[in-house]
Amino acid sequence: MTTPLPQPTAPRYEPLRGLALWGEEEKAAALEVLESRSLFRYYGPAPLHRVDAFEERFAALAGAPHAVAVSSGTAALTCALIGLGIPEGAEVIVPAATFLGCVNAVVAARGVPVFADIDESLTLDPTGWEHLVTDRTFAVMPVHLHQAAADLDPVLAVARRHGLRVLEDAAQACGVSYRGRPVGSIGDAGAFSFQSEKNITAGEGGAVVTHDPAVHDRVARYQDQGGQFTTSRAGDRGTAAGEPFLGANLRMTEIAGAVLAVQLERLPPMLRRLRDIARTVRADLADLGLRWRPLPDEEGSGGDLTLLLDDRMAARRLVTALTAAGVPAGTLYQGRLVHQNPAVRTGRTPWGTGWQAPGRLRASEAILGRSVTVGLGAAMTDDDVAHLAKSLRAAVTGASGE
Ligand SMILES: *Cc1c(COP(=O)(O)O)cnc(C)c1O
Repeated sequence: MTTPLPQPTAPRYEPLRGLALWGEEEKAAALEVLESRSLFRYYGPAPLHRVDAFEERFAALAGAPHAVAVSSGTAALTCALIGLGIPEGAEVIVPAATFLGCVNAVVAARGVPVFADIDESLTLDPTGWEHLVTDRTFAVMPVHLHQAAADLDPVLAVARRHGLRVLEDAAQACGVSYRGRPVGSIGDAGAFSFQSEKNITAGEGGAVVTHDPAVHDRVARYQDQGGQFTTSRAGDRGTAAGEPFLGANLRMTEIAGAVLAVQLERLPPMLRRLRDIARTVRADLADLGLRWRPLPDEEGSGGDLTLLLDDRMAARRLVTALTAAGVPAGTLYQGRLVHQNPAVRTGRTPWGTGWQAPGRLRASEAILGRSVTVGLGAAMTDDDVAHLAKSLRAAVTGASGE
């Protein structure tokens, strides 16, 4: 006799952040740009300079003096590596539990990714990557995965010891902090994404932040064809700063800048609410002795509910039960490490074979595979939160074998 599987029901709420709060203000901001007919950030019939204004406010929020808005989070990572001065063929250490865009960005910057273990925080094992450092290593890219800062202090200490650059991937952690400092501004550069699932969004978009004016200058020029408008406004291209070099077009449009400035206002109260929801649910279930993903800085997180189960099967059962109850839940990246992707495994880049098959990271595979992340939404009502806590209680007590 087999028990019929519970049928998934539609989720009770959207597991979205900034997009769940989308409103009249975003529409008005976009419309204003459309009416100005000045959609290009550097000039137009009646320029509103919305991207400039967004960059300024974003830099302040991210705790850095400089920000450059670009077309995506992947573009931000590529620009940051180039801004930091990555030499062709240099290695970048990337945690194995991350989005494919990290690998794509390294490849676009003509670097070679090297995959490092995670720990139970699901972020880079803070000191477990040191043995990967070679004389070709240029940078390490800690990823602030799912609303939680990676444990940066030990990462920085190892990096400094070897003279490596630290590029923070804060794509999933806009507004999150680590020991009182906003993520993205702690290492040598930070990259953010404004794709529709991220904390603030214009559908697509990204930003690089840095304290270093020379890095800022190189990023600003690279995303603009090497400085088509950033350094040639007054006449001669490429003479304003540094050696001229060739770039790409990874610029942000004025519509995106206008919408993101509105979304940025929503960010701090939204993160407070999501952090509260996570805290409420944990407190409600405290008697169950659940194993939550340990966060290097829970106070600064952006609201995360991730459980560590005994094994992959238990994680699958929990996801099935929660989904059936209308609670969005899943294992991040379906439990697959980034280098299990066939193109990454074989090193297939657009310009040939970039690297040989990276080794398996079984411990990281096991940790990611037995994790379950519950999706939270910025528009969740108190009823949704109560339902979530009740469903989680029923699902974990059911999943433990009663
Ligand atoms: C979303 C994301 C990116 C890339 O952002 P896009 O804007 O989609 O290019 C990079 N890294 C991580 C960890 C992400 O989640």
